[in-house]
Amino acid sequence: MSDRYCVFGHPIGHSKSPIIHQAFAAQTGEAMGYEAIEAPLDGFQDAWRSFVANGGHGANVTVPFKQEAYRLCDTLSHRARRAGAVNTLLLGKNGATYGDTTDGVGLVRDLANHAVALAGKRVLVLGAGGAVRGVLEPLLAAGPAQVVIANRTVEKAECLARDFGDLGAVSGAGFEGLPGGFDVVINGTSASLSGELPPLPDDLFTERGATAYDMMYAAEPTVFLAWAAARGARPLDGLGMLVEQAAESFFQWRHVRPDTAPVLADLRRAL
Ligand code: NDP
Repeated sequence: MSDRYCVFGHPIGHSKSPIIHQAFAAQTGEAMGYEAIEAPLDGFQDAWRSFVANGGHGANVTVPFKQEAYRLCDTLSHRARRAGAVNTLLLGKNGATYGDTTDGVGLVRDLANHAVALAGKRVLVLGAGGAVRGVLEPLLAAGPAQVVIANRTVEKAECLARDFGDLGAVSGAGFEGLPGGFDVVINGTSASLSGELPPLPDDLFTERGATAYDMMYAAEPTVFLAWAAARGARPLDGLGMLVEQAAESFFQWRHVRPDTAPVLADLRRAL
């Protein structure tokens, strides 16, 4: 019998995780199944326990359960502890639940796949929600000269900068009065979901060749990516981050690294 994995969310119908993990399993020959499960909004913990009782080995967790998954775990990876969120659950041999977060590694790997350097660079992160908290540790570990977090609610950006200040030069700000000349600008706000653009200065990007990364992805460039491309930055969307975070979860479960490139190419064609 093949091992069971799933993704929990609410809603979950839109999730691409089953397609990605089934492709990884086929490619690597791993005997496993992967399904999407919509847990009730007040029933995530019961859903996980029931999944385990029915032979579940591990799971991904998406909106809105990442913080609840964090609270459910018996043990946590260092990066999950820092992020305060879990997107990967793994059942240990002793029946204990281990939690990890792979979103940040996914982002940094995707940037590396596109040969985007972070070491010594000036990086701007837009937004201060769960997604940004989840990526800050691996981002700072890549050695940027400076990370500025800019958010509509300034206090949340300042709070994040304080929480991660021991890992590198990171500061919090609002959108107003932002300096220009950034090498890499990562949009981690959910503004793109509603087709909105945070107020940003025209000289946001360095003229030496900048990258604009939107954690969101769609068939067409997001408003942020279209704005950035018109100002000379190289636009990248978050589809690669999605596939890379999945690959890291897969590795945690199966100790096998899938080849992400063909899976990403198939997903891109189907967008
Ligand atoms: P949260 O709800 O936790 O945070 C939302 C953030 O967006 C806050 O900082 C909020 O600011 C800001 N925001 C919302 N609307 C606007 C607006 N109109 N103008 C400016 N700022 C705005 O969401 P998440 O952090 O969980 O997700 C953020 C994005 O990241 C989503 O688009 C999500 O799809 C994407 N994501 C992509 C992943 C991938 O694998 N590619 C993985 C995880 C997330 P304020 O604090 O002021 O409210």
